[in-house]
Amino acid sequence: MTRKGLPGLTAQIKDKLIQQALERRLRQAEHGSSVAPLAHPSAGEVNIPPQHYSFRHHPGYQQIRIINDGAARLGIGSPFFKLHEGIAGAVTHIGGQEYINYSSYNYLGLSGHKVVADAAKKAIDDYGTSVSASRLVSGERPIHRELEQEIAKAYGVDDAIVFVSGHAANVTTIGHLFGPKDLILHDELIHNSVLQGIALSGAKRLPFAHNDWAALDAILLEQRHQFEQVLVVLEGIYSMDGDYPDLPRFVEIKRRHKVFLMVDEAHSFGVMGNTGLGIREHFDLEGGDVDIWMGTLSKALAGCGGYIAGETALVEHLKFLAPGFLYSVGMSPPLAAASLAALKIMLQEPERVTTLQARGQLFLELARAGGIDTGTSTGLAVIPAIIGGSIKTARLSAALFERGINVQPILYPAVPEKSARLRFFISCEHTEEQIRQTVQAVVEEANRL
Ligand code: PMP
Repeated sequence: MTRKGLPGLTAQIKDKLIQQALERRLRQAEHGSSVAPLAHPSAGEVNIPPQHYSFRHHPGYQQIRIINDGAARLGIGSPFFKLHEGIAGAVTHIGGQEYINYSSYNYLGLSGHKVVADAAKKAIDDYGTSVSASRLVSGERPIHRELEQEIAKAYGVDDAIVFVSGHAANVTTIGHLFGPKDLILHDELIHNSVLQGIALSGAKRLPFAHNDWAALDAILLEQRHQFEQVLVVLEGIYSMDGDYPDLPRFVEIKRRHKVFLMVDEAHSFGVMGNTGLGIREHFDLEGGDVDIWMGTLSKALAGCGGYIAGETALVEHLKFLAPGFLYSVGMSPPLAAASLAALKIMLQEPERVTTLQARGQLFLELARAGGIDTGTSTGLAVIPAIIGGSIKTARLSAALFERGINVQPILYPAVPEKSARLRFFISCEHTEEQIRQTVQAVVEEANRL
């Protein structure tokens, strides 16, 4: 399958043939047929295929090997697990070189900010690096409560609860609150953590077309009465596309059908609204218009962890019973302190949010003018350059890397093969010059492919 082994063909046709061969091998690996069956069992021997007792033969591992081997044969360095040697902001250092960086969701430039770092260091001095217990038993520290109160205030709701991971927040909240008699409807582009939570809950799962509130309304009209609790899950800003739902429409539908509404603000808190308070501020909604506000501390808030904000009955329930909270350690003090400090800076310096929004708009306008397919992006922090074809996209990412620009290619199966893309995360610390230089390089290299 080397390119040299296909003489007389153009580079594009060679790429296509290699791509097809890779896809064939992927399909085989998924069905386990790339692993040779065992010879006829002898007496007393059980015929168990190796993929059932050997990690080396596990279909998931086989899939990774095929993709990595294929990329290596094509001479494309792996775009994964790149080693960043310092703070990843608008610029980063990899292999001793400086790059303009679009691969990190340090939207407000607060990871690496001195005040945030000092708050984390002080929390270590005050409380240590671990609280050494679940919050419920003896892991509770003042910094947890302060962070939760500030988050609740930001949403205009009763209370909030922080979890040690954003992913875990979704899994355990949805997994705990819903069950087999319930229905969970979600935007078709919803994050993996929501899907995992739904699987755990045992509820019936139905996706609806992206941002299509009318499709949701139609499903509810037909199905609501067959279930007990019904949950609708959306994202504030969709992490692969950079667009957002018409939230007031969803709120109206939620009220009419008597269902719960949950919004994952991982990429919208700190990004949308005049002061960064998210999609609620953008649409001027009340905190109580959404039942479950979810977000992560790992993006604009420069820490690590997730939160749920809402009414007391929801938060107290989760604090006492959600397994991912109850049976997990309390958030590490420096992380809680870092996100609390970041939230305060965000509110004190709304120009960070304004600049982030302006830089995103500039990127979007220049990219569109240069003929780049930015899909449905609104220019709010996440801007894809949809290239189509994983190999082509990986090559473009590698070519930009050569020019001092670090941007992650998002490849199949993270997105459909035909919409493989470069995903640009914008930071308020990107300069206009960096954005102009980047878009020009993307246009030039995309045309060269
Ligand atoms: N929700 C969404 C929409 C996300 O994009 C992510 C991760 N990027 C998560 C939840 C999980 O958050 P975390 O990485 O902080 O665990």
